[in-house]
Amino acid sequence: MDNTFLSPYFQQPLALGADIVIHSGTKYLGGHNDVLAGFTVVKDRELSEKLKLIYKTTGACLSPMDSFLTLRGIKTLALRMERHQENALELALWLRNHSRVSEVYYIGLPDRPDKTVIDSQCSGYGGMLSFRVDSPATAERLLKEVKLIRFAESLGGVESLLTYPYRQTHAEVPEELRRRLGVDDTLLRLSVGIENIRDLTEDLEQAFQAAAGQGKGNADEMVPCAAG
Ligand SMILES: *Cc1c(COP(=O)(O)O)cnc(C)c1O
Repeated sequence: MDNTFLSPYFQQPLALGADIVIHSGTKYLGGHNDVLAGFTVVKDRELSEKLKLIYKTTGACLSPMDSFLTLRGIKTLALRMERHQENALELALWLRNHSRVSEVYYIGLPDRPDKTVIDSQCSGYGGMLSFRVDSPATAERLLKEVKLIRFAESLGGVESLLTYPYRQTHAEVPEELRRRLGVDDTLLRLSVGIENIRDLTEDLEQAFQAAAGQGKGNADEMVPCAAG
């Protein structure tokens, strides 16, 4: 079970019956877009010993600096997750009322159809959401026009990052499957950071307005930032 998006703060899969849990420490655990790390957490002691042996003999371990950054990040995990979630819910509701947005996907929305299942598994909803805009041109212009929010692929850090799954995270997925999964060229993913919520809504609003004013964008000009 990959528990990266909710982090151990909001969901503990071992307690729900999972045998092996993985986390990208690069995301919420580190939390500042400045470290690459990963974790495998297992229930069974024997399996844990086997993994420890592989870890020790292959030597693919975290460096002291990366360990330090990850441990320091974890000290504020609780505070950050609460704020990510608070901002994400406000933004989800704000986006839902926006005339250029046709759909908002956030597990913390009170009227989610799968809310009963969600609430039986986790104690919170985290900061990841996605939304669908009225056209591919709007999606492309938004990516260019956001100023505080950055167009980049990672997630889980204190800064808000906007991603275009169709061209980035899911670019390698066959077109037919992408369409079936709803990952089309109008879908944007937002990793909501811990900024002031008004700064986030103002940034999105100015980007929507700029997108409306400047006509069709050219996807070839889109240059994502390096994360961090
Ligand atoms: C980023 C990510 C990974 C991979 O983690 P890295 O730290 O980039 O190696 C795995 N699962 C999820 C859900 C992720 O977001």
